[in-house]
Amino acid sequence: MIPIALPLLAEEEADAARAAVLSGWVSQGPQVAAFERDFADLVGAPYACAVSNCTIALHLALAALEIGPGDEVITASHSFIATANCIRYCGATPVFVDIDPGTYNIDPNRVAEAITPRTRAVIAVHQMGMPCDLAALVTLAERHGIILIEDAACAAGSQIRVDGDWDCIGKPHGQIACFSFHPRKVITTGEGGMLTTADAKLDHKFRLLRQHGMSVPDIVRHGSSQVIFEDYLVVGFNYRMTDIQAAVGRKQLERLPELVSRRRAIAARYGELLGNFEGLRLPAEPDWARSNWQSYCVGLPDRVDQRTVMQSLLDQGIATRRGIMCSHREAPYANEKPRHDLQQSELAQDHSILLPIYAQMSKEDQERVGCALRRELQAYALQQAAR
Ligand SMILES: *Cc1c(COP(=O)(O)O)cnc(C)c1O
Repeated sequence: MIPIALPLLAEEEADAARAAVLSGWVSQGPQVAAFERDFADLVGAPYACAVSNCTIALHLALAALEIGPGDEVITASHSFIATANCIRYCGATPVFVDIDPGTYNIDPNRVAEAITPRTRAVIAVHQMGMPCDLAALVTLAERHGIILIEDAACAAGSQIRVDGDWDCIGKPHGQIACFSFHPRKVITTGEGGMLTTADAKLDHKFRLLRQHGMSVPDIVRHGSSQVIFEDYLVVGFNYRMTDIQAAVGRKQLERLPELVSRRRAIAARYGELLGNFEGLRLPAEPDWARSNWQSYCVGLPDRVDQRTVMQSLLDQGIATRRGIMCSHREAPYANEKPRHDLQQSELAQDHSILLPIYAQMSKEDQERVGCALRRELQAYALQQAAR
């Protein structure tokens, strides 16, 4: 069986977890602090705050900005449902706009059309690790005085060219970027998330809110020679990462450049295996973007049935996934008529599939995937020619 994804975890991560377990400090502590420093250094962000996962990183971002009822947040429906749910957690209204079918990312022109006096923020997703058009979105957000949050769940190790230099996603370019370390992403801590920002006040708020609104973190109280009484300054949450996860995360970060370069090679090889197939649309990087290739999504030729192709590949031991979901079609959102046209989002969900990609994928396995998909599509083409 060729899986859709596979994390690369080895002795280094196991040893790091073991050391954390034996250290006597397993909740948020010195390993979390070190992971935050390592991550901030890697992406070039002034501040990084580790949390339990990216869903609550997004919630924390909105909570720290005091976004709430009556506020609108523009985002893509074409994303994992957590992107929309975090807006609902705050009582704010998600306003869905369509994507650019070339990159599967939010279309800045559609964002511009959706801005109203109630718009407080845009959550722009770097979908499947492909950087979205940050230059256009930053300009737009500045012009309208709205906040830009990056859902960078999939985008650790992706890069974007800004003024001639390659920046890491997370630098940050908007006000806040949120990352995930779920095993489906490029690096993992089992569950985990990170917020980066250049704003010291926001970082302070994240730290307060992730730990019950406590004025003094545990680790400070623990290390103090003076008796400290803490205060609870706001209604906070328990959104902490554990030191066991952070210790694993630090080892994963060391691997990140290697993981991304292997994925980039695999994506290039898919291009060679599938490039010349009539009607098959391959993902392509704009010249200002370098994807970490968290996922590899191909658009199927017209009239090819997505489910049939996926089932046939599965029967041959190859796992695939349908295109990224659309939140506006799911129960929590389906009873509201979308304000804006979402045709490209729906087409992308229904007419594309994600192919297996992971750093340790062998050339042979990749060729098997490429050949199986070509055979399947060839059969469709022959059927149609016969009609
Ligand atoms: C995975 C993902 C999330 C959620 O991340 P978790 O760490 O699993 O909570 C949010 N947004 C996008 C775009 C994702 O792909």
